Amino acid sequence: MFLTISATGTPERPATDLGYLLHKHPDNAQTFSTSYGTAHVLYPEASAERCTAALLLEVDAVALVRRGKGKGRGGAPDAALAQYVNDRPYAASSLLAVALSAVFSSAMKGQCNARPELPGRPLPLRVEVPALPARGGADLVRALFEPLGWTVTVEAVALDAEFPEWGDSRYVRLVLESERLTLSEALRHLYVLLPVLDDAKHYWVSSDEVDKLLRAGDGWLPDHPEQQLITSRYLSRRWSLTREAMERLELVRLAEADDSAVEEIDNAVAEETEADSEDAAEPEEKSVSLAVQRRDAILAALHASGAARVLDLGCGQGQLVQALLKDMRFTEIVGVDVSMRALTVASRRLKLDRMGERQAERVKLMQGSLAYTDNRLKGYDAAVLSEVIEHLDLPRLPALEYAVFGSARPKTVLVTTPNVEYNVRWETLPAGHSRHGDHRFEWTREEFRAWAERVAGRHGYGVEFTPVGPDDPEVGPPTQMATFVLTTKEEKAA
Ligand code: SAH
Repeated sequence: MFLTISATGTPERPATDLGYLLHKHPDNAQTFSTSYGTAHVLYPEASAERCTAALLLEVDAVALVRRGKGKGRGGAPDAALAQYVNDRPYAASSLLAVALSAVFSSAMKGQCNARPELPGRPLPLRVEVPALPARGGADLVRALFEPLGWTVTVEAVALDAEFPEWGDSRYVRLVLESERLTLSEALRHLYVLLPVLDDAKHYWVSSDEVDKLLRAGDGWLPDHPEQQLITSRYLSRRWSLTREAMERLELVRLAEADDSAVEEIDNAVAEETEADSEDAAEPEEKSVSLAVQRRDAILAALHASGAARVLDLGCGQGQLVQALLKDMRFTEIVGVDVSMRALTVASRRLKLDRMGERQAERVKLMQGSLAYTDNRLKGYDAAVLSEVIEHLDLPRLPALEYAVFGSARPKTVLVTTPNVEYNVRWETLPAGHSRHGDHRFEWTREEFRAWAERVAGRHGYGVEFTPVGPDDPEVGPPTQMATFVLTTKEEKAA
């Protein structure tokens, strides 16, 4: 089974840039072994005008059966034979998708150290898949690829060219063309949609497939009109995983609807204020941005708690994770966010892929929503929610309370949120406006205290409050922080 990816180019932007992007030199044919066969990458053509890379996968049907992975098809009386004689070696399927991600993993992630400007640039691309099993036919193929910006050509493949009266097979020849996609986007479309069209995975689909789907679907799946079908088929119709994925996609959409949600807008406000009032009074208070003061306050509270294993819930672009990593007192640091885009930025900021092994073992980024209980979050010393609660709609807040204080139950929880009373002190903030377009609410000191005490009481925590930033005698500090400490007896004994 194989597919080809071609780029066209100009003397200024030669098509052979494809070789850089794929991290495979056009002059060499390369071979990679996988657990179910051998993958070859070669370039049938490579000039400035046109460059084509072919991925050819030789499937070892016997190895597939031995590994118990040939069971995607069959159930018919001759199922035993069908394990050995089937379309797996010839048709593009989940095997090809897995090979694609293994052989072109950097290209898929959009990484190119040699030419960092290349991955972000759209290319004139053409992808051809000569034999694609298309369950749902040509119409479905179009419905899947056209909304993503591809011009789609699908031709039915005859069952037997010698006997046209036998009709068409369920395979199609697919050609995709686009001028406005990046190679990373193109590869991630194929990685997800080839197995969706084949509709039979060669391996058991477990819950980490939801993460893979969300990662590969970043930037296109949350808005795809066929999202339900894609999600369900990709996850082999396992409904519980499908439901989880659909819910997470919905949250990604909400979080990213306001693009600025992942930016530090209230810090931008703080910095603007700094610049505006450079020669105003209190220069010492303005010289350190509020974001930095907040991070310092969080680090101090974490030190005081003695925590070593820490969750950063709603980690955004990973600034706090980065600060925690520099401090060897923290042995395990997990950043969680609902926004894939934020996590992508965080992973780049932390240089996760280039980190030494010892550092890499200390840190992990996970996509997840705080509106759902999540067993991965259990057993940590401390959790930080820095400027996160105000991004949830008030009716969703009890779900977060339960997920963090009821289910994850770290010994210490730090929550920071804006103090709305302080807003009158931001010279650039029009009266009655919140600090950030995506803030669903901002609380007074009294409101925050009432909420925190109720949550603490309900879940067996004690709570104390710390001002962050200049503590104005009248309106209080710009940021308020609550430190929750678990007090229930059974937890102390444990
Ligand atoms: N903690 C960071 C980022 C705050 S911005 C800081 O202090 O700078 C709020 C972050 O919460 C965003 O990255 C947003 O994507 C995330 N977020 C919002 N709702 C969420 C939810 N339900 N689950 C997980 N993260 C969420």
